[in-house]
Amino acid sequence: MPRTAIFPGSFDPMTTGHLALLRRAVPLFDKIIVAVGVNIDKKGYLPLDERIGRIRRAVADMPQVEVDTYDCLTTDFCRRKGAGYILRGVRDSSDFAYEQKIADINRLIAPDIETVILLAEPRYAAISSSMVRELAAFGKDVNEYIV
Ligand code: ADP
Repeated sequence: MPRTAIFPGSFDPMTTGHLALLRRAVPLFDKIIVAVGVNIDKKGYLPLDERIGRIRRAVADMPQVEVDTYDCLTTDFCRRKGAGYILRGVRDSSDFAYEQKIADINRLIAPDIETVILLAEPRYAAISSSMVRELAAFGKDVNEYIV
């Protein structure tokens, strides 16, 4: 069985921190699907097609990585894709508390799907999509932080 992981998130936008994490995860799995969660009620910072286009270009040099969208439970999406792993990242202790809760819930509803959490490298630990959105809202050029 190929080891397939889903890397779920909003990726609004995908940051250099997300991409660095993804690169470190590539050797761990046969295939990784970057799964952009779609929320029809929430207008994003970047339109969905632009978000996807940017991610596709950023992962073009990683043949093991696919990009997809989903609008269901992450574990249901894992089943649909035959994925046994959920990849997530943590930057600090507040991220950890949040990720632990999500992983616990996912384990309750899908005990056979394992969450794999990688720690952010310190140089990316301050980079988040929300930080990028906030800087951009105040007119700051955010290109060095996004893919
Ligand atoms: P969500 O909307 O589900 O919180 P995000 O798109 O913000 O998802 O992030 C997806 C995953 O990437 C999350 O597990 C998040 O903690 C992780 N992540 C975000 N930024 C970084 C970073 N700089 N380094 C490592 N992991 C990160």
